[in-house]
Amino acid sequence: MEVDKMDENDWRYHGEGNKSLVVSHVQLSRVLRLLKYPAEDSENPPQTVEQAFRQIQNIVDFSSNVMSSLLGENFIHSGEVVKLPLEFVRQLSIKVQHQRPAWRCDKVMDIYSGCALCLPNLTSPVLHQPTHTPPLCIEIKPKCGFLPSSKHVSKDIKTKVCRFCMHQHYKVANGKWKRRSLYCPLDLFSGNRQRMHFAIRHLIEEPQNNFKIFKGGQCIYSSKEGSDDSMDLNSLLHHLRPYFQYGNNRINSHMTNKAVLHDFIQVLVNALLSGGGGDGGVVTDRRGEGRSFCEASLFNKERIRHGSQGLPSDSVLSRILHTQMLDTLDIEGLHPLYRRVEQHLQEFPKERARLQIDGPYNEAFLEKLQKCPNEDESSVEYAVAKVHQYRVSMTAKDCSIMVALVPSCEEEEDDEGQRRLRDFLSSRPPAFSYSVSILDLDPKPFDSIPRQLRLDQKIVSCYLRTGGSLQ
Ligand code: ATP
Ligand code: ZN
Ligand code: MG
Ligand code: MG
Repeated sequence: MEVDKMDENDWRYHGEGNKSLVVSHVQLSRVLRLLKYPAEDSENPPQTVEQAFRQIQNIVDFSSNVMSSLLGENFIHSGEVVKLPLEFVRQLSIKVQHQRPAWRCDKVMDIYSGCALCLPNLTSPVLHQPTHTPPLCIEIKPKCGFLPSSKHVSKDIKTKVCRFCMHQHYKVANGKWKRRSLYCPLDLFSGNRQRMHFAIRHLIEEPQNNFKIFKGGQCIYSSKEGSDDSMDLNSLLHHLRPYFQYGNNRINSHMTNKAVLHDFIQVLVNALLSGGGGDGGVVTDRRGEGRSFCEASLFNKERIRHGSQGLPSDSVLSRILHTQMLDTLDIEGLHPLYRRVEQHLQEFPKERARLQIDGPYNEAFLEKLQKCPNEDESSVEYAVAKVHQYRVSMTAKDCSIMVALVPSCEEEEDDEGQRRLRDFLSSRPPAFSYSVSILDLDPKPFDSIPRQLRLDQKIVSCYLRTGGSLQ
């Protein structure tokens, strides 16, 4: 990709989050991730070109030096910062504007800095031949998978109902979403196949911004709100059917919708439980499951037929969960330490650089948070290490998992009829090769911590006021 020969016609709208907008190349397996900022600032960019460049470089460094060592480098693609011609960026922003969902348009794409993050397109992972079945990619934003056990937690409800489930009540009460999602992250992170299956079914039912499906690089299923109506369950089943034609549960060689969905979720669960993050074998993590059940989850505990399998320790879910668990104090215990650091910085502003408050996110930063000094809990070093740990855990609570499913054995099969017959006779489950990645690993700013405390208080008090009873 030559940055001086960029043509907006080679790129199309791919998706966006709260912080960035993503466009994908029509031929190459590449995406550009551009920053966004509030529409009120659209005339007046909130930062200089150098600051924008540094912000994106920080994202790359944080992902490659910090998150990749915690989550497993095989899951991570950190990408590189690119400088694009401003004219290209302006044309691009005009081109994609009408495809953006209305509810995301409170922010505009940065057209002033020309800086962007260039990443591999994880939704078209291999340059599959167009004649072959396109890969299916499933994006899950799992959110926080454990209940806090910190002694600083002041409200008992936080140790019983998970943050996601409480937050759902808050979001519906505030009009962010029309319907509550019945997905519970604790079920997804349980490692128990039935609970995981249940969790994914609810993600499909109410995807919000936690679930998307791509086919051949194009989004075919996501939140119903703000997108066209074609993204309903029937159209999804229509897309999925050809991939699961040859599985079990056929009635006169025709699979019911229920069976298609079941097989799809099964394959997804397998991919999520597979290893691949790096070293480690098939050791399972048997701790945890018993105490990580959310009271708001509708999963009926009595349905668990087989005991807890736990998460395989090198699975993507286990790596994410353990990184999330670096939040050991909960925001309520962390906030006083944040205040201590803040006061220290007011007194000694030059310490900001030495303590790496805003980066650089290098090995030294990783060391600071891993070798948290335990001997002196009143030191500023201890407070800084806990704040760094908390910020890393926030990133892990906000990241997404991308599972790419590529139908396997296609090349070797010349005779479609023979394959159908053989698959039918053996009634084997559909075969896929899969790859799993983690995306959206931005560092969370130091000064976002007070906001986290306020949000936590609002969510909990809203739940106590309305939630528990409004089941
Ligand atoms: P959030 O609001 O979740 O923090 P964000 O603004 O940080 O989101 P991303 O999640 O990184 O932005 O990107 C927005 C969307 O673009 C993702 O949900 C995903 O669908 C798509 N996307 C991002 N990176 C890639 C990639 N490397 N390959 C394919 N799709 C991607
Ligand atoms: Zn829950
Ligand atoms: Mg995201
Ligand atoms: Mg993000």
